[in-house]
Amino acid sequence: LAGRKHQPQNTVIELPTCRVGSEQVVIIAGPCAVENEDLMITLALALKEMGVHILRGGAFKPRTSPYSFQGLGEEGLRILARAREATGLPVITEVTDVRCLELVCRYSDIIQIGSRNMQNFVLLREVGRVSKPVLLKRGLSATIEEWLLAAEYILSEGNSRVMLCERGIRTFETYTRNTLDINAIPAVKELSHLPVIADPSHGTGRRSLVAPVARAAVAAGADGLMLEVHPRPEEALSDGPQSLLPAQLERLLAELRSLAGAL
Ligand code: PEP
Ligand code: MN
Repeated sequence: LAGRKHQPQNTVIELPTCRVGSEQVVIIAGPCAVENEDLMITLALALKEMGVHILRGGAFKPRTSPYSFQGLGEEGLRILARAREATGLPVITEVTDVRCLELVCRYSDIIQIGSRNMQNFVLLREVGRVSKPVLLKRGLSATIEEWLLAAEYILSEGNSRVMLCERGIRTFETYTRNTLDINAIPAVKELSHLPVIADPSHGTGRRSLVAPVARAAVAAGADGLMLEVHPRPEEALSDGPQSLLPAQLERLLAELRSLAGAL
């Protein structure tokens, strides 16, 4: 079902602020984690002003260490919903456990499946049965075929609104957190009709590399970008080193707008 042979024309996912998979480059931005209401609402209003289409923020965080900040849970979802009310922007957040899916669906417009859950087949089947669009992140070491087959689990349950997210894979390189697989963007566009979003924040792990790699992803044909932003990255409860300052995001968006007219 994910293949171009099955469906030659691109899947377009209609949202109140954008059409994912159309000509437009869709921007998903926000903090890695929802930390508190003040920060989230202030940042959300600034992002809306910049032309961001979708707000992100994790309420359930899949952290490497059990002692790291795990997210605010349902309180985080409530804050995210308030940010939607304040801005009119749709929101996306990750579901890490099938037991929380109903709860997350009550608050979120788009359901994110994180890298660590790309092959959680029980969870994939369950999100295949909900009536919300799903963003499926590529697994840390997943091949393109495994990733597309994971999408197939969702599609085969009847949910056709799936977008894929290239967020970098594990390589021998340790200077960067992950290696954003630029190849995967045109490869997936060739193989599948599903929209492809690039996440250069997790793809690089370094703030200074996010903008150039974002530009490369758009040049390679990405339908959108997911970008982590924080007003005080040094105080962020997760992923501060890869979070852009709001002003840096604003500059990147201006660059992307002029990229189209570069020649
Ligand atoms: C995230 O988007 O904050 C996240 C945890 O991403 P990933 O699943 O790609 O690591
Ligand atoms: Mn993150």
